[in-house]
Amino acid sequence: MSSIAFIGLGNMGAPMALNLVKAGHQVVVYDLVAEAVGKLTEAGARAASSADAAVEGAEIVITMLPASKHVEGLYLERDLLGKIKTGALVIDCSTIAPDASRKVAAAALARGLEMVDAPVSGGTGGAVAGTLTFIVGGTSAALERARPVLEKMGKNIFHAGESGAGQVAKICNNMLLGILMAGTSEALALGVSNGLDPKVLSDIIAKSSGRNWATELYNPWPGVMEHAPASKGYAGGFGVDLMLKDLGLAAESALVSRASIPLGELARNLYSLHSNGGSGKLDFSSIVNLYASDRE
Ligand code: NAD
Repeated sequence: MSSIAFIGLGNMGAPMALNLVKAGHQVVVYDLVAEAVGKLTEAGARAASSADAAVEGAEIVITMLPASKHVEGLYLERDLLGKIKTGALVIDCSTIAPDASRKVAAAALARGLEMVDAPVSGGTGGAVAGTLTFIVGGTSAALERARPVLEKMGKNIFHAGESGAGQVAKICNNMLLGILMAGTSEALALGVSNGLDPKVLSDIIAKSSGRNWATELYNPWPGVMEHAPASKGYAGGFGVDLMLKDLGLAAESALVSRASIPLGELARNLYSLHSNGGSGKLDFSSIVNLYASDRE
């Protein structure tokens, strides 16, 4: 079993780290927010007092942080790479800009550390169940080193290509997710405003050609799915501001490659309006409130 440092214990990182503890790994955890550490230590992880202390002697370092600035800030500006023992493997599971990922991976390599970008899909439900999809960028050899650990947290592991490719694929996926969630919300609000029961309409769509991840697992309408964030006041889950970040990454990638993403840009504007209206910390499925703000 490997000794693993796990940094970033938010909605995703905490359940992912918990699965590594359950699998018998020695896990040392760290988060800026002290309360985030409690559940992990109860389960058998060891708490570190800083990121530097967490990585001391670790064979594998995993990060699950919000955005590029957190990942670059930690590994480069605070020089966490300089504290990791030579030969260790770094796995960054955060969704960040491909260029930021490549920059950190190059700096890691210069210090004798292999690094993969391994952003995930599957939501908090997938993180808890250990069924995440990992989308990996880096060398095949580094992916094979990471695989046994990733398999304890997920069930699908894809090699997207070289360093940064995992991020590119993840950004494409999340742009589609943002569009689908907005579209699903729009369709449900249209049905409800024309007299349909949202549960009945959702059941119909889930078995018809409009079905998608939102209608199957993550319905945005409150009360339709007991375990979805919509039925828990949109708490936890995947924040509006994180979706907005990902749609911004899609827009940046489109600018660089001169790709056209009209629907992605529209979705980015919708989530931006929603966030600026005060909903940035809610789950992204709360975008339905833009369409159904007068809902009882
Ligand atoms: P979150 O905001 O819930 O958690 C992030 C955690 O990182 C927080 O606990 C924060 O305190 C910690 N943190 C920030 N800077 C730190 C530092 N320097 N040192 C230690 N800890 C630090 O975010 P999340 O929902 O867990 O998402 C994490 C990443 O996963 C994001 O990039 C997101 O886009 C991606 N993602 C999220 C979901 C989801 O459903 N929530 C799904 C797939 C991918």
